[in-house]
Amino acid sequence: QWPDPDELLQGMNPQQEAAVIHTGGPLLIVAGAGSGKTRVLSHRIAYLLATGQAHPGQILAITFTNKAAAEMRERIEALIGDAAKSMWISTFHSSCVRILRREAKVIGLNSNFSIYDSADSLRLITLVTKGLDLDPKKFAPKAIMHKISALKNDLIDEEENALSTNFNEPFAAAVAEVYKGYASRLRQANAMDFDDLIAQTVYMFRAFPGVAEYYRRRFRHVLVDEYQDTNHAQYALVREIVGPDDGGPAGIAPAQLTVVGDSDQSIYAFRGADIRNIVEFEQDYPNADTIKLEQNYRSTQNILSAANAVISRNPNRREKRLWTAEGDGEKIIGYVAESEHEEARFIAKEIDRLQDETDLRPGDVAIFYRTNAQSRAIEDILVRVGLPYRVVGGTRFYERKEIKDALAYLRALVNPDDDVNLRRILNEPKRGIGDRAEGAVAALAERERVSFSVAMARAEEAPGIASRSLNAVNAFAKMMGDLSEVASTSTPATALEAVLEQTGYLEALRTSTDPQDESRVENLAELVAVVREFSTDNPEGTLGEFLEQVSLVADADQIPDAPGGSEAEAAAAVAEAKRLGVVTLMTLHTAKGLEFPVVFLTGLEHGLFPHSRSATDPKELAEERRLAYVGLTRARKRLYITRSEVRSMWGQSQYNPASQFIEEIPEDLIQWKREGTARMAPVAGNFGTSRYSGSSWGAGTSVGGRDSGVLPPSISARTAAGRVQPQKEVVSVSVGDKVNHTAFGNGVVLEISGAGDKMVAKVRFEIGEKRLLLRYAPLVKE
Ligand code: ATP
Ligand code: MG
Repeated sequence: QWPDPDELLQGMNPQQEAAVIHTGGPLLIVAGAGSGKTRVLSHRIAYLLATGQAHPGQILAITFTNKAAAEMRERIEALIGDAAKSMWISTFHSSCVRILRREAKVIGLNSNFSIYDSADSLRLITLVTKGLDLDPKKFAPKAIMHKISALKNDLIDEEENALSTNFNEPFAAAVAEVYKGYASRLRQANAMDFDDLIAQTVYMFRAFPGVAEYYRRRFRHVLVDEYQDTNHAQYALVREIVGPDDGGPAGIAPAQLTVVGDSDQSIYAFRGADIRNIVEFEQDYPNADTIKLEQNYRSTQNILSAANAVISRNPNRREKRLWTAEGDGEKIIGYVAESEHEEARFIAKEIDRLQDETDLRPGDVAIFYRTNAQSRAIEDILVRVGLPYRVVGGTRFYERKEIKDALAYLRALVNPDDDVNLRRILNEPKRGIGDRAEGAVAALAERERVSFSVAMARAEEAPGIASRSLNAVNAFAKMMGDLSEVASTSTPATALEAVLEQTGYLEALRTSTDPQDESRVENLAELVAVVREFSTDNPEGTLGEFLEQVSLVADADQIPDAPGGSEAEAAAAVAEAKRLGVVTLMTLHTAKGLEFPVVFLTGLEHGLFPHSRSATDPKELAEERRLAYVGLTRARKRLYITRSEVRSMWGQSQYNPASQFIEEIPEDLIQWKREGTARMAPVAGNFGTSRYSGSSWGAGTSVGGRDSGVLPPSISARTAAGRVQPQKEVVSVSVGDKVNHTAFGNGVVLEISGAGDKMVAKVRFEIGEKRLLLRYAPLVKE
């Protein structure tokens, strides 16, 4: 059933081959971008299987993002077939979730524990901060949250932290107190935050050697991609799973460890990533072998030279020069736009041109930006020109109030001890349970040391509760009981629909006169679609599993290493996107490890990228530069760098000078399509008046696909375009037909190509010729 081992080595260069066939001690592969690190890992896994050194269950492969895990799974599946399905190829977080659900009892948790995303954590931290009578103005909950997160990533628990805290220092003292309160509230709520997932697994392994031994016996090969981005907790986790050199008391030989990484691509210092882990690997694992890869197989020489030039400005790095046998390739194309809208328009036009002049498809193109907010202008244009796209790793959909409310209901049903979520929807929609009543029940819960839901069931004992409130609380508790019945006996979709109907949530929105509420109803409909999709993919999937997947996907953007509920789901999404051939939009952080034939690196402006934060801090600047290096090295054939002279940020037009990263690229590598004009800071109103600027399109079309990009990957590709126009039949048009397009007006069909869902029409409009994917284009026959 396995491939021929020799075939797996074909076409590899000698260093790559050595890495694939390496046996014995730990192996470190350090290499620049695109040199085949991930490929070597995939082939190594296949090789271990093909040569009988391991069976699939003995391999643990860890990557950094959901998407990377999905891609690796896909690559391995291509090599070894279905056996890849049963392997652990996942992110740190999802591996830990799997382990913790299995072993929850050991550490005194229920296996249905909730996973709090960063918004949930912030809410709980705010509650705790207030409960301690700390002034949130002086002690910002967000700052406290970051500090607690950093402590958890360093494996410093609340007790240890309290011991080393100088309580004369007000902020440190506040952190210590809140950390304690927060940790105990999480335990009470049977919940974990993202950082806990890793830290608690490590603590468990250390405290319960028997549990650790089980996993050590099981995983004989541990392989970690993007090792440069591991933080201390993740580093420790790997060490625990691999096991001690001497085999420990149980005498289990350590697992074979292979890590690959590139210290020039370390971009998660803000999440506690520690380059030290890679730099000092050889000290930590004294019998380790190191292999370097230098030949790049991804990009043209021009692209590599640009990337080399930029990264070489960073201090304290080991110089390495990427080279390719591919030749110079196209020059990098530069463009200085007048406004962010014009920048977006240039991108859309270029994609259009490349489609006409080359065999490029939208699926070959990626557009990167530094901050999430930048996607909006780009999305607007893509929607209008009818280019299907998806946004990878956004969070906005799940940050919407109505979505969070609906999920809070479901979470509270699955885990009644989850106070944060229960209290979130206690009076949502309004049902007469005000702050006073909530406070009374909370006081009871506190006094009796029980969860909020248990206290609710005994609400008549709540100190000073008004009889009207008591009735409301009782009615609510009964309703939750009924719903929980539904939730435990039916599909996740039925449970969600029951929640939306029986709680009156949907009704309240439907009868509202607030126009925003209409789109809230739509979003909830979208959520129902998400659940249905989940059930189609996982016919046996429980509500709990659905929620787990959502919470891991939802936070993927802020917590790039989070994710991973179901890699199968993410793999399906990747496949779906390729099939659909849509343009990919994502932040630079999300782009790590990926590659695209055509890359647009946008917003290369001082203050945006490098981010203003880095202006005074050389460390931050070095990190931004590594991010630029990651972005540049994603491109295979064509690279565009763009910036805008004026950009509206925080509601104001700002004039931004060029990013220093542009200046660091040798001028002869760039061909400018439009150069900047030196100008003074703009007078408000002078800009954004181009034909494509926001206002000239009217409100109707601006909804576009932007929210759909934040759906779980598997459905976002479909709905990103679907929301432009609700899912519909492909309009049937033929050459010569007169048509009308929502944005472009009247036109004539010049040419038809493709069939079915992929049918494309070339249409001449007043403003020029457009190629439109008929399935999505807002087009009608006249
Ligand atoms: P990054 O640092 O960006 O994660 P990487 O080092 O993991 O990059 P890969 O993604 O594994 O690099 O490889 C980059 C590209 O080069 C892929 O398309 C891969 O298939 C190709 N490649 C790598 N090695 C070879 C080889 N020996 N022959 C042909 N193609 C190769
Ligand atoms: Mg890689």
